[in-house]
Formats: sequence, structure tokens, C-alpha cells
Amino acid sequence: MSATPDVVSHWIGGARTRGGSPRTAPVYDPATGAVQREVALADVTDVDAAVAAAAEAFPAWSELSVSRRQRVLFRARDLLEQRIDELAAIITSEHGKVLSDAAGEITRGLEVIELASGFPQLLKGEYSDNFSTGVDVHSIRQPLGVVGVISPFNFPAMVPLWFVPIAIASGNAVVLKPSEKDPSAALWIAELFAEAGLPSGVLNVVNGDKVAVDRLLEHPQVEAISFVGSTPIARYVYETATAHGKRVQALGGAKNHMLVLADADLDGAADAAINAGFGSAGERCMAVSVAVVAEPIADAFIAAVAERMSGLRVGDGRRGCDMGPLITREHRDRVSGYLDIALADGARIVVDGRGVEPDGAADGFWLGPTLIDGLPTTSAAYRDEIFGPVLAVIRVPGYAEGIELINANPYGNGAAVFTRDGGAARRFEREVTAGMVGVNVPIPVPVAYYSFGGWKASAFGDTKAYGPQGFHFFTREKAITRRWPEQAAGIDLGFPVAG
Ligand code: NAD
Repeated sequence: MSATPDVVSHWIGGARTRGGSPRTAPVYDPATGAVQREVALADVTDVDAAVAAAAEAFPAWSELSVSRRQRVLFRARDLLEQRIDELAAIITSEHGKVLSDAAGEITRGLEVIELASGFPQLLKGEYSDNFSTGVDVHSIRQPLGVVGVISPFNFPAMVPLWFVPIAIASGNAVVLKPSEKDPSAALWIAELFAEAGLPSGVLNVVNGDKVAVDRLLEHPQVEAISFVGSTPIARYVYETATAHGKRVQALGGAKNHMLVLADADLDGAADAAINAGFGSAGERCMAVSVAVVAEPIADAFIAAVAERMSGLRVGDGRRGCDMGPLITREHRDRVSGYLDIALADGARIVVDGRGVEPDGAADGFWLGPTLIDGLPTTSAAYRDEIFGPVLAVIRVPGYAEGIELINANPYGNGAAVFTRDGGAARRFEREVTAGMVGVNVPIPVPVAYYSFGGWKASAFGDTKAYGPQGFHFFTREKAITRRWPEQAAGIDLGFPVAG
């Protein structure tokens, strides 16, 4: 490592800039435990500079013709597809997830660029001809202006790409504040859009922590905030930014359940539990952390899951392993602390990830896949979002008790049912209080042309991310009533009604 570590800077007005704040934070390689670079932490002046650059770029960008804006998105899409491996390597080095998983999140982001490239279809207005004699009405959707996007560590490329393509396609200018834990992907994406022809200032990246977030939440020129992160911060962002008059969508944390009914395909359900429980080391907002299993098959399910767990390779994401490290040492220790809590609360640890022997450096932030049986719902290990490779099994007599347990949970991001019974699956689809539902599909992340978002404590605000609701969020509708002089109405002080 060089004597002076690299500092991940900001991207403001089409150029890298270190900004005025001397504050920095370390960026780790979670697979080695080493600090590989620092990241600049913006102060208020740095955020103001980014907002000013966006505000300056907005008028010309929003006036640019639809087809020219579209061409930028098409080019960005092609460039990203050519360079997925480059971005995946950046994600793996700062986040720790395995390379194939990093490529997967980029592909999901790419799909949002593809959706956004077709934005003229999604922004079409409506038209009513001659609703009154000689009078027509039509609607148009217009951009908001400068919008802020604040993203979490666990999807350093995909979550920014849930919002940025749709915001800019709609004609807005963006200030993106990525997670300070893995900031390089966002900067790389901003440079890619610049290469694709996006004018300077339309997409800016400000690195930082609470100081930068707070400034975005209160800045008078920021019209809207799209936030993704943990529930306490999502609630804070929602309350603070709405109090400052902004439009806000704030997606929060999760505790996703899969309900495994007695007639389920046991092998399919066990595979699903492994993939959704331990993929990305459980650091996914759609990870399954609780399997609610019908008692008659619970022992067989646990045996099938444990048997599969013994074959998982944990290690450096660059070495072809199945699962990488956690994001920081503190987070790893917090997650493993929940295993002590679960034990103290009477649960049984079937597979203990604390003994894992990783294929990676000794100082990496390792915790192996862990399986818990008999976790009481009163335990903090059940109530809290653990956000690690920990899967708890809770036994229930059948469907009725399972859905009651799931719906009593304060979170409502994703939920899945595993069954061969179409009637039970249909009941589950209709009765479960979650925003995204899977039937024999453990991670039901909607495709780009639907919208993503949870219910209850998993989301604040009424608009989901991407898909049609994303376009709704980043535009406001204007209804225009139009008459031409040859159809003049004459004097009439009454309230206008159709005639
Ligand atoms: P986080 O809430 O700690 O951070 C998210 C963002 O908020 C970051 O940019 C961070 O810098 C900023 N932030 C952190 N503390 C802040 C504070 N006190 N004031 C203002 N801003 C603050 O979340 P994280 O640990 O980066 O990400 C993991 C969390 O995100 C999990 O809870 C996960 O479930 C959630 N998540 C949810 C979704 C979803 O779609 N619902 C998707 C991905 C992640």
C-alpha cells in the first residue's frame, strides 16, 4: 500500500473533487480486514456545491429532447454491459460479496437502465378531446428539479441504479450520496454516465455520512429524496425530509419469512432457504432470515438445510467461493452476538458459523452460515433485523399459525410460501402483509417494469422504487385545459362546468 492512501473523492459538475472537508473514513477490504483507501466525508459546503451543480444543469437537461436524453441512456446501458466485470471487481473489493453475486446486482441495475431507456412510453400524458364545446384537456408529466438519492452499503451499484436512470430519464438532476462503506461503485457509475454523454452536473456524487445526508434532507433546492437503508434511518429521513417539504420514498429494513407447508417440495424449499438465507452473507434486504416450517416436516427440513450448509464454501469473493465476509468487523461481531442471545433465549444452534474456516485471510470479517432451531418470537434474535448469514427455523402446526406469525412481524418487505397447494398459495398471496411475495420463489424481487418496495416498517412513503411508480415519483403531473380564440366563451362569472 502507498504511504498516502487513495481518497475516494466526490463527483461534482462532471469532475472528481476532494471537496473542502478534511474528514475521511476508512474503506476496508472485508476479505482481508485491511484498510485499502479512505473516503472523503463531505461537509455542508461540499453538498451545497453538488446541489448547485445539479441546479445549474437541470434547465438544459430537462429541455433536451426526449430522443437525445434517450440516446444517453442507451449508450450508458451498452457501456455498462461491456464492463460488468470491472464494476463487479470494485464491488467485491469493498463489499466482500462474491464476484458472481456482484455481477448479478449489476445486471438488475442494468435492467432498470433498459426500462428507463423506454421512458417516453412511461411518461406519455393523457388527452380528452372536446370535453366542453371547443375545450380540450391534456396532461403532461414534468421533472421535479434536483433530487437526492441516498443508498446503503449492501447494493452499492444496484440501489443507485434503481433510482438514477429513472430520475435522469425523467429530466431531473441528481445528487447521489452512496454508503461510505463501499463508495467507489457510485463514482464509477457517475463516470460511466459521463462517458455515455450525460452533461456535467446532471449526476453528482457526494460521499459522506450523516452530515451530508442531513444537508440533503433540508436543502431548499432539493425537491425529493429517495432513500434505502435501515428502518430507524429510513423513518428519520422520511420525517425530516417531509418536514422540509420534500417528496420522499424511504425504504427500510426487513425480516423476511418463508412459510414451508407440509406438502412443499422439501428439496426445493431447502435449496431456496440456502440461497436466500446465505447469499451475499445474508446482507440483502430480501434475504430470508426466518423459515416458518410446518411441524410434520420440520425435522426433515432442518436436516436437508444443514446437509446443504456443510457444502458451502466461505471465503474471499475473488476465489470462486459461495459466500464472502461481512461488511465490517463491528457488524460481524454484532451478528455473532445474536447467536449468544438466541442461545440464552432457549434456541438451539444447529450449525454454528462462528467456527468457519474461510478460504481467505485470517483478519477478514468472517462468519459462516448459521442455522437456529426453536427461536422464540420474543427473542431479540427474532425481533431485530440481524442482516447476516443466520437462518432461524420456527415450527408451526400449519398455514393458519404460520400466516398469523408472519403478519404479526412489524416488517413487511418480502415473504414467500412453499407449497404444492394452489389454494393455500393463493390465500397466502392475498393475506400476507408484505409488499413482495414469492410462491416457491424465495427472493421475489420484482423485475424492472414492476416496482420494488415493502409494507409496514419496511417502507415509508407511498411510492415504490423503479417501474411505473419510479416514474411517478420523479415527475409531477400537470393538467392543461385549452381553448382557442375562435371558440371564445364570452363573459360568465359562474364556476366553469362542461357545456
Ligand atoms: P444505514 O441505514 O446504516 O445507511 C443507509 C444510508 O444512510 C447510508 O448512505 C448512510 O451513510 C446513511 N446514514 C447512516 N446513518 C445515518 C444517520 N444517523 N443519519 C443520516 N444518515 C445516515 O443502512 P446500511 O447498513 O448501509 O444498509 C443496510 C440496511 O439497508 C438494512 O437494514 C437493509 O435491510 C436495508 N436495505 C433495504 C432495502 C429495501 O429495499 N428495503 C434495500 C437494501 C438495503
